[in-house]
Amino acid sequence: MNEVSSKGRDFRDRLATADKSGRRLWVFPTKPKGRLHRARAIVASFLLAFLFAAPFIRVNGNPLLQFNIIERHFFIFGMTFWPQDFHLFVLFGITLALFIVLLTAIYGRVFCGWACPQTIFLEMVFRKIEYLIDGTAGQQRKLAAAPLTATKLTKRVVKHTLFFGISFLIGNLLLAYIIGTEDLFKIISDPPSQHITGLTFMFLFSGLFYFVFASFREQACTLVCPYARLQSVLLDTNTIVVAYDHKRGEPRGPRALGNEKQKYADCIDCEACVRVCPTGIDIRNGTQLDCVNCTACIDACNDVMDRVGSPRGLIRYSSLDAIEKNKKFRITGRIIAYTVVLTLLASLMTILMLSRTDVEATIMRTPGSLFQETASGGIKNLYNIKLINKTSNEMPISLSIPGERGKIEVVGSDIVVDKNGLAESVFFIEIPKEKLFSPNSLVEVEVRSEGKLIETIRTNFMGPQPGR
Ligand code: SF4
Ligand code: SF4
Repeated sequence: MNEVSSKGRDFRDRLATADKSGRRLWVFPTKPKGRLHRARAIVASFLLAFLFAAPFIRVNGNPLLQFNIIERHFFIFGMTFWPQDFHLFVLFGITLALFIVLLTAIYGRVFCGWACPQTIFLEMVFRKIEYLIDGTAGQQRKLAAAPLTATKLTKRVVKHTLFFGISFLIGNLLLAYIIGTEDLFKIISDPPSQHITGLTFMFLFSGLFYFVFASFREQACTLVCPYARLQSVLLDTNTIVVAYDHKRGEPRGPRALGNEKQKYADCIDCEACVRVCPTGIDIRNGTQLDCVNCTACIDACNDVMDRVGSPRGLIRYSSLDAIEKNKKFRITGRIIAYTVVLTLLASLMTILMLSRTDVEATIMRTPGSLFQETASGGIKNLYNIKLINKTSNEMPISLSIPGERGKIEVVGSDIVVDKNGLAESVFFIEIPKEKLFSPNSLVEVEVRSEGKLIETIRTNFMGPQPGR
């Protein structure tokens, strides 16, 4: 079994993975197996495939996912987002957070067990390799306590080389999400001297992942993850979590024929559920913050129940209300409130996304410039224009004034904005004096690309007092 004893009654006083003096207790969980584990492995395979493929997949020439925090633009499902879309990010962040809150209020930490990259990599990749090289939990424990022999050294070198190799892959993947696959390939293929910063981050990320998966492990979930800390406020007695049916299981103990309490004592106290737990806890102590809802204890206990001829589900997905009061899951006021706010936020998000333009233009009068009078009797003002192209196509831009009110003259070459690029230019607006009725009037500028109106922007136009 794990070094952590389930017999201890001091589980509320200390972490399951630390002794009384605070020294870390290494967890050697039994290799999980069973129906839920197989289902999780299938889900994990799909998620891993998506995670590794997303930066390489192209939608309209853009990556499916990329979060370029250095150049401050992001690609989400092929759409480009700039800092000007910050409000969308904030709204998306709030919507996502509320979705997780709602999901947690209903299903507990289902995300941690089934979809969190930390759990998936640790349980479905790194631990699988460990079982392959170091053997079962018992063999791992023996090996850890054994003196350093040639066999132990070989196993350690092979395992940690593989661990570092996979961490290196994950580190590169993270870099691909930040700088994009093209720049990542340049770092890999160009002479190292040309990409000192990129290479430094590549090894920093790889080292960080190696530390997390080879050493820090479940501590990331139990000590660092802020989501875990929120559980106590998000869960209630109606929430469906991985739960031990204490009414059915207690008093626990080895079965004996003729024991009158036997029908209530389905838990044979074999501790299979504790041995398999990757965070070293005993689920029979009740819902705990350290439980990542990995379902390994459900599979382990179901296997025990099959062998002793009791019904499955002594540990199962259930709520405290269902176990103690036989109450079915209820849609509570809290769940309705979360759902209403979530629906409103999602609707607002959809409206903002649909009304998002392909090109964003900002026009401002050039600071410090004065209006000029032309020989033909017109008044000219100088403007700066900044354009952001959110599409994957190059966009030639033309500017015009609606109606016959005035004309626009771009200074220098024609304006063309690169795909996913930014362009700046300068232009004059000239309006005949007789069409100005105030020293400070508003003028509309139409921004077009290949004849298609993209945006109409209003800006100020300075001129002399009428009549002068
Ligand atoms: S695996 Fe099931 S029977 Fe065994 S100790 Fe855990 S709850 Fe009890
Ligand atoms: S208690 Fe069960 S579900 Fe929770 S982390 Fe341990 S094994 Fe996984």
